[in-house]
Amino acid sequence: MSPTRTLQDYDLDALRERVLPERAGTRADSIPQLAEADPDLFGIALALPDGSVRSSGDGRAPFSIQSAVKPFLFALALADIDGAALDRVGIEPTGEAFDAIKLESDTGRPPNPMVNAGAILTCALVHGNDPEARAERIRDGLSRFAGRALSVDEDVAHSEHLLGDRNHALAHLMRAEGTLDDSADDAVAVYARACAVVVDVETLAVMGATLAFGGVNPLTGERVVASEIARDVVAVMATCGVYDGSGRWMRAVGVPAKSSVSGAIVLSAPGTAGAAIVSPPLDEQGTSVRGRIAAEALSADLGLHVFG
Ligand code: GLN
Repeated sequence: MSPTRTLQDYDLDALRERVLPERAGTRADSIPQLAEADPDLFGIALALPDGSVRSSGDGRAPFSIQSAVKPFLFALALADIDGAALDRVGIEPTGEAFDAIKLESDTGRPPNPMVNAGAILTCALVHGNDPEARAERIRDGLSRFAGRALSVDEDVAHSEHLLGDRNHALAHLMRAEGTLDDSADDAVAVYARACAVVVDVETLAVMGATLAFGGVNPLTGERVVASEIARDVVAVMATCGVYDGSGRWMRAVGVPAKSSVSGAIVLSAPGTAGAAIVSPPLDEQGTSVRGRIAAEALSADLGLHVFG
């Protein structure tokens, strides 16, 4: 790392330029809105402890948060039902795809909160007497992580609910195992709305920073979750956040992160920074190709590797 580079004056435009020639990857095709996403959308953002947020490229262009929501859903579940959430969902990496139809064989619990089964369950654990109340609690909680009011893309939510056959299968399997109390359809509906929350990379970087800074939002100063919760969530991001690519990610990038099929990646460098990248073309594991390359360069340039 060049000693002249600091978090405050790091040249995000130069990083973006370096990664721009990379054109590999294919967009997700699970719903029409992702299949039709602009493949050239490319933004990188960095959020620092002083509340400053900088970006390069498409810093304010909207996209659906998709699986980058999962760490925050886990945090809200931990906040709402305290340690009990850790009895309801595992925390071990699976080595399998994010939508694998698989639960823990001995307990019937989802393997971890970063795969679809786990996120469907954490959505069902947050406070609220009915699905609408839970969806609203989630939208409000995510807004606190973001430091601004977030909204749901209703078309994306509808498609996710309608076309998420594997998610419906997972919810039914959890009902059969007795690990999901909600109706399967309600649980998938709430999860679909959570995935359809609209963000941009600047917002997502602030959300990652809130976890990186022990649960305190650097923009608003609000404590969103307890520091123990933020620590637990970041730990599970480190081991499970990039699914069956988590080991490779932690070796090469070394920053706890969560990938998503919209091509967004949220990163939480403990005590140092939050960052986010969006670029829709994905690799085989559903991680943004440009996002991975940019994250690796960002981490190397700024010395963010937690074991570095
Ligand atoms: N909404 C997507 C799904 O449930 C999220 C998956 C992802 O981003 N990896 O399939």
